[in-house]
Amino acid sequence: MLGQMMHKPLLISSLIDHAERYHGDTTIYSVETTGGLEETNWGQVAVNSRKLASALSKLGLGNFARCGTLAWNNRRHLEIYYGVSGAGFVCHTINPRLFPEQLVYIANHAEDRVLFFDKTFVPLAKLVMAQAEGMQHLIYMGPRDEDVAAQLPGVLFYDEFIETGDADYEWPTFDENSASSLCYTSGTTGHPKGVLYSHRSTVLHAFASNTLDCVGYAAADVVMPVVPMFHVNAWGSPYGCAMSGARLALPGPGLDGESLVKLIDKCGVTLAMGVPTIWLGLLGYAKKSGSKLASLNRTVIGGAACPPSMIDTFREEFGVETIHAWGMTEMSPLGSSNRPLAKHGSLPVEQQHKLRENQGRPPFGVDLKIVDDEGNELPMDGTAQGDLLVQGHWVLDSYFRMEDEGVLHDGWFDTGDVGTLDPNGYLTIKDRSKDIIKSGGEWISSVELENIAVAHPKLANAAVIGVAHPKWDERPLLVAVKAEGAEPSEEELLAFFDGKIAKWQVPDKVVFVEALPLNATGKVLKRKLREEFGEILMPA
Ligand code: ADP
Repeated sequence: MLGQMMHKPLLISSLIDHAERYHGDTTIYSVETTGGLEETNWGQVAVNSRKLASALSKLGLGNFARCGTLAWNNRRHLEIYYGVSGAGFVCHTINPRLFPEQLVYIANHAEDRVLFFDKTFVPLAKLVMAQAEGMQHLIYMGPRDEDVAAQLPGVLFYDEFIETGDADYEWPTFDENSASSLCYTSGTTGHPKGVLYSHRSTVLHAFASNTLDCVGYAAADVVMPVVPMFHVNAWGSPYGCAMSGARLALPGPGLDGESLVKLIDKCGVTLAMGVPTIWLGLLGYAKKSGSKLASLNRTVIGGAACPPSMIDTFREEFGVETIHAWGMTEMSPLGSSNRPLAKHGSLPVEQQHKLRENQGRPPFGVDLKIVDDEGNELPMDGTAQGDLLVQGHWVLDSYFRMEDEGVLHDGWFDTGDVGTLDPNGYLTIKDRSKDIIKSGGEWISSVELENIAVAHPKLANAAVIGVAHPKWDERPLLVAVKAEGAEPSEEELLAFFDGKIAKWQVPDKVVFVEALPLNATGKVLKRKLREEFGEILMPA
């Protein structure tokens, strides 16, 4: 016997319909690429996304045509998210920080037909147009601009283009399992791989992100996604915020500490989301300028391990709660988030704080397990450490156009991370499996060592890598970036680890660098560091 309830497909267009109908006059702030802060609202975004959908439909692109974007977090990009996917095309957000060859590779691999781009990315648009075979239309995200027109013959202008579309356009209805958007992993090894999200997975992910112990966007929030819209759909915030009718403050190209602090104070941002490196800059500027970040009450930090010292600074100096979250492109990205359980409330305060440091527990819809080298499940005891596997409604099944290369093991996806799970399902990420340091048969977590190192007041940033060692196979090396004006010695940095970890885990050596090499998603490129320093402990 079947239930007798309505069936409505879970389509991305239903999110923008909802936002328009119930939150139409809710403000969206947008820092424009060419300067200035613009204000719009969900109602206007909905109208423009329908006009865009209608205009695109007249181009004869074919079902599920991929439409690429090279753009910052701004309101036109938001309209493109809805207009492209809602009309039954695939919104392919391209990371502009990729190497140009990789960028061309993915535009070709995705068979992009249309490319939307911000002013910053005119040179990249030129490159893609010249080298991506199937590219048919370039659309500049702004009003007519003669300078852009001169550089890119045949370019269309977004503001004019959408006027060729119809504001009364009706969203088509189709199978909720249809492809909606595409995002390539940053490809620190080999070519980038495409993750093709569906309407259903996106809407379910938005529901989950809106549960209180996950992100929990509220209509009264002003949400500032610093995480780029070209990186895993800004962690799904454009969808989650439409679902709850939250206000948005889209920071555009200004991702430095000063621009972000000013935007928080100007727009009254209550919830901010981003990777730890971004918050280093933000906290630095807030302290310097004396801003108390008065409106901010929570930050979601993920994408890389959030150092406990950062959680403490947010809490103690700014009264901001940090939600430490973990996920990946292949998971849309939310896999876990750290919020307390009822029983934690009776623990001493220090212990409560300690419990908030790990990557948290999965929301309903994601399942986690850890396994040993033979694939046997390990106990959830908080100490057994193994490869982390995941399952869920918004976890990938296969990479785009690599369907024959199975990536699942008995229905589980191997994240490439190593971690522990405690009896309540709280996840602690120890490392990426390729970054963990294997010293004399024991494993050392580079993340743990980095968390300690970055708390040293004389360091601006630090990474720990495993380097070859004649006796122990590998030993940890601390690669340190000095704080402005500070002159830390190797001895004092190494002494800082005393009493915080076992003696044999303390790095063997420190090297100082001007800056850490970062990949396209702002994460430290450890491979590069290993190439440079991998033999430093070996006899000459
Ligand atoms: P990339 O393109 O670099 O793979 P992803 O965002 O997909 O970008 O990276 C996902 C990886 O980032 C995870 O597998 C994990 O190693 C790391 N990561 C994400 N969040 C956290 C976190 N909170 N703590 C530690 N590592 C994290």
